[in-house]
Amino acid sequence: MPTPAQPRTGTLIVGNCQAGVQIASTLRELGDTEPITLVGEEPHAPYQRPPLSKAFLKGEATADSLAFRTHDFYREHDIELVTRERIVTITRDETGGVAVAESGRTFPFARLALATGAVPRTIPFEGSELEGVSYLRTATEATVLEQQLHQATNVVVVGGGFIGLEVAAGARAAGKYVTVLEAAPRLIGRAVCEQTSEFYLQAHRRRGTRVVLNAKVVRFTGEHDRVTGVELGDGTVVPAEVVLIGVGVIPRTELAGQLGLQVDNGIVVDTHALASDGLTVAAGDCANMPNPSIADFGQGRLRLESVQNAVEQAKVAAATLLGQAAEHKTVPWFWSDQADLKLQIAGLSGEHDQVVLRGDPDSEKFSLLYYRDGILIAADCVNSPLDFMAVRNALHKGQSVPAALAADSSVPLKKSVTDVLLPVPSPAA
Ligand SMILES: Cc1cc2nc3c(=O)[nH]c(=O)nc-3n(C[C@H](O)[C@H](O)[C@H](O)COP(=O)(O)OP(=O)(O)OC[C@H]3O[C@@H](n4cnc5c(N)ncnc54)[C@H](O)[C@@H]3O)c2cc1C
Repeated sequence: MPTPAQPRTGTLIVGNCQAGVQIASTLRELGDTEPITLVGEEPHAPYQRPPLSKAFLKGEATADSLAFRTHDFYREHDIELVTRERIVTITRDETGGVAVAESGRTFPFARLALATGAVPRTIPFEGSELEGVSYLRTATEATVLEQQLHQATNVVVVGGGFIGLEVAAGARAAGKYVTVLEAAPRLIGRAVCEQTSEFYLQAHRRRGTRVVLNAKVVRFTGEHDRVTGVELGDGTVVPAEVVLIGVGVIPRTELAGQLGLQVDNGIVVDTHALASDGLTVAAGDCANMPNPSIADFGQGRLRLESVQNAVEQAKVAAATLLGQAAEHKTVPWFWSDQADLKLQIAGLSGEHDQVVLRGDPDSEKFSLLYYRDGILIAADCVNSPLDFMAVRNALHKGQSVPAALAADSSVPLKKSVTDVLLPVPSPAA
């Protein structure tokens, strides 16, 4: 418990990555002069994760070069940055509380923010412990993976989601024999429609990556504690010196659970990033928040895993800690770089009933626009940044693009954006 020498003042932010750093810097931008402590368990100063599956694996980045801020920034903004401390318990009441790290160090606080992120979902196959079998979330893991890839000839990626496909593309570009094993009937199935999945399937195959859909992984084979392959349900063994498992993440909610906060696929928060105790805020990959862009379609809330989501929620969380009114109301967006293909997604496509193709997938430059009841709700844009910007801006302003006009790629999409949903002219008119 805190001693008199450790008064419960200031804000403690647990988790010092995208959301945590943003909460700290927004608190200062909003004029907070109280102490801020930003605690994380990783050894590095806070850094960007997205390049870990991209530039980092090519040896073009390090944890240092990916740092969000210089050490001077934290000093100048009077933010106490603490690394290598894992918080294991937190107790609190209305006036504050204390967090205790594994090391025994205590962190008293008046206000508490949880930005604990997520960890890779693990799969308990026989052979998972073999050297060469890895997951990718941290710079430490990326460093090991980069070294292993360097020495490997055969690489297997288990999971055809964004991270798996980014690693596959990088390894293939580096001349490795790459096999992607996806359990589902299509790639990136949770995030995009069938057309986008099919495009990425063909695009990876064109670049020489072998992709197996409906794959059933049985176990990892090995010799002398090193992985040698991945055995499938039909008995075939795909050779591998490196196996990267990318099958999703699990939100880190242990501390929220200890505090008795409502947890349901993440820490349940309201649009102000406030958890169920009405005191603690949570933001980023660990938080499950109502999202206005899906509220009308009955789903109401969701947990997103993206930089933009972490940043926007963190800004709201900081304002809430200071008693200022702020609400999460932004349009979600996301990107993924696979080889020379830049996918940019605006909006949430889950509830669509129509998809309009704009451009030619064979040219590897096209967009798929998603509609619900004739209203634009999202787009997947491949090497089409102008379409992405047009859709993102339109969604932000509550505008749409008539579906019949969207397909004409000779007209810039932003010229077809409309406030009022005009009747679409028939070709004969
Ligand atoms: C390889 C990779 C590629 C990605 N690519 C993209 C992309 O292209 N585009 C995109 O939008 N998003 C991408 N993402 C997702 C994006 O990085 C995350 O959405 C974002 O990092 C979430 O930030 P966060 O702060 O919520 O969580 P995290 O980044 O997970 O940070 C949480 C931090 O809290 C620490 N922590 C947790 N519990 C404790 C504790 N008890 N004590 C101390 N510290 C603790 C963790 O160690 C971690 O450092 C990618 C992620 C990965 C891993």
